[in-house]
Amino acid sequence: MFTKILIANRGEIACRVIKTARRLGIRTVAVYSEADANARHVRLADEAVLLGPAAARESYLVADKIIEACKRTGAQAVHPGYGFLSENEEFAEALAANGITFIGPPASAIRAMGSKSEAKKLMGAANVPLTPGYHGDDQTPALLHQEADQIGYPVLIKAAAGGGGKGMRLVEQSADFPDALASCKREAISSFGDDHVLIEKYITKPRHIEIQVFADTLGNCVYLFERDCSVQRRHQKVLEEAPAPGMTEERRRQMGEAAVAAAKAVGYVGAGTVEFIAMQDGTFYFMEMNTRLQVEHPVTEMITGQDLVEWQLRVAAGQPLPLAQNQLQISGHALEARIYAEDANKGFLPATGKLIRLAPPAESLNVRVDTGVEEGDEITPFYDPMIAKLIVWDENRDGALARMRKALADYQVAGLTTNIDFLSRLVACPAFAGADLDTGLIERQKDVLFPEIQPVPRDALLVATVGELLWEQHEAKAAAKLSGDPWSPWHARDGWRMNLSAARTISFKDGEALVEAQVRYRRDSWEISLAGQSTVARGKKLDGDQFAVELDDRRLIASVVAVDDKRNVFLQGSTYTLLRDDPLHRVDAGDSHGGGLTAPMPGKVVALLAQPGQKVDKGTPLLILEAMKMEHTITAPAAGVLKAFCYATGEQVADGAPLVEFEPAA
Ligand code: ADP
Ligand code: ADP
Ligand code: MG
Repeated sequence: MFTKILIANRGEIACRVIKTARRLGIRTVAVYSEADANARHVRLADEAVLLGPAAARESYLVADKIIEACKRTGAQAVHPGYGFLSENEEFAEALAANGITFIGPPASAIRAMGSKSEAKKLMGAANVPLTPGYHGDDQTPALLHQEADQIGYPVLIKAAAGGGGKGMRLVEQSADFPDALASCKREAISSFGDDHVLIEKYITKPRHIEIQVFADTLGNCVYLFERDCSVQRRHQKVLEEAPAPGMTEERRRQMGEAAVAAAKAVGYVGAGTVEFIAMQDGTFYFMEMNTRLQVEHPVTEMITGQDLVEWQLRVAAGQPLPLAQNQLQISGHALEARIYAEDANKGFLPATGKLIRLAPPAESLNVRVDTGVEEGDEITPFYDPMIAKLIVWDENRDGALARMRKALADYQVAGLTTNIDFLSRLVACPAFAGADLDTGLIERQKDVLFPEIQPVPRDALLVATVGELLWEQHEAKAAAKLSGDPWSPWHARDGWRMNLSAARTISFKDGEALVEAQVRYRRDSWEISLAGQSTVARGKKLDGDQFAVELDDRRLIASVVAVDDKRNVFLQGSTYTLLRDDPLHRVDAGDSHGGGLTAPMPGKVVALLAQPGQKVDKGTPLLILEAMKMEHTITAPAAGVLKAFCYATGEQVADGAPLVEFEPAA
């Protein structure tokens, strides 16, 4: 076994690998970019090497620097994690040429599966069932269009080199094909450096079911059952589970054996995932093989009781697989939810910012949290906006669902927008709870998943008001301590006023609505009047931003996290956001990116879609910005004239930068 390995990745997966290495007594070397100098994976590793600037192509993607780091530290092997260099055959070859072990499959297997088109040709030859479509070499647009017409719409155009749900376009009718092809190729070139595409029949109401396979260097190959990853947004997984609901023993064996055949056909070694698209009747087709450890591998670990990173390390060190097929068993049910910094209500737009508060649920035998960040860390625009993976296990699916609901309710994040509330609605929605799964679930359930914004409930407003009052008391005490006269009545915040009734107003903004709480100070309580109804409240500050509140005859535990004027209220598993509206200290609450014609995040202009001087209707696409590996279309906010573009194609823009000069029609 190795005594020292280097992990060529960051975030949660780097931390995940370090954990197992440490348990096995293997020393770890982390690598990092300038943006990650204080990242959790750097703090956890035994040593760490700086690679370069924040941009991945100048740090995490530079193979030479990683090999150099191995030599400097004496690391004998490299774990690539997922993403970055994990499926890069030149990297695997370069390591081998330098006498360093790649903890992954042979370069030849990566190459064989690296192109979705080539993989399909190989799999067809190995009798693995394929999704119907065109995966030929001829890339003439007219020919591709003709093939799509022949397959019959809807079709899916896919970048052959694609991954992570990027480089895919659904085309509903022939007339839309040319634009979709152009846009797909543009994204494919910018994300993968290769614009080769394939076309597939778009399967309606399919499920994504994948098989975990593992092979060693001695010729053994097993499958560790399936994961159902049907719940997706933008073709990216959000919730995964194992086993797949409704899977029969017979089908499991068929899929498992097809996956093992796929692996064997390319001389596979290590951890791999064969992804199938399955119809509701169970018919399944090969989609692609991911030649690495998968993001959602923990659900497999939870139901098999195995540590897949340990298996990877053993296999890479030349040892046999720890278990044979007939020794593997499924126990219970596991669910994983990906916690992202993103705004579900704005088309899952990635968010960035500082994790002012990050309090995950407590870990136990049933709850696991894999994360690469801690409170105070930042989610930057440079990398994937995943904050953590929340994994739960129980004896059956209903038990696991209950655990997931509770764990999401307990998850507290403030400082940036997350998908936690969205995930809570998702796991609670009848379609998911009832295992009525297909890749269109989110779209199909959008009424339930994206409800109209409700006013913040009264309890949360009362809690926010008590939070302000307690905070003032706390500040006053702190000031008194410093003043040298701690008992002076002038420091008290009990509303004592000479000859005045001790009443005041504390106001908040709930969206556009102004909420005013009238507070009357009493001897040992406050009387808070909201919308004409009054409540007697008491409060006591607990640890951090938590406090105990008494509202008339009820007691609650809550916390309020203040970020500038924002107040994040955490109460009974829900989060509410208010703005403190302080008349003495009114800060411009309008966010600076309001107009819609400014960059929602730092990015690169990839296409200008209109002409300066052109008259446009509301909603006309004006420009495409690529940010966080996604294309964002900026459209006209109203009818008017596009005066000018502020940037040329290919130019980098900063967060909040104006993108176009636009004159709305009078
Ligand atoms: P999984 O099935 O494990 O979720 P994905 O294909 O969604 O795999 O990708 C896993 C991670 O790796 C994602 O975070 C994605 O952003 C990243 N990723 C995958 N392929 C690429 C790629 N070619 N370039 C950059 N990032 C990638
Ligand atoms: P990636 O490399 O980005 O993971 P995949 O080929 O694995 O690309 O496809 C990602 C997702 O897109 C699948 O999980 C599925 O939801 C959807 N998808 C892919 N191919 C098809 C298809 N032929 N019909 C319907 N949906 C598909
Ligand atoms: Mg895939």
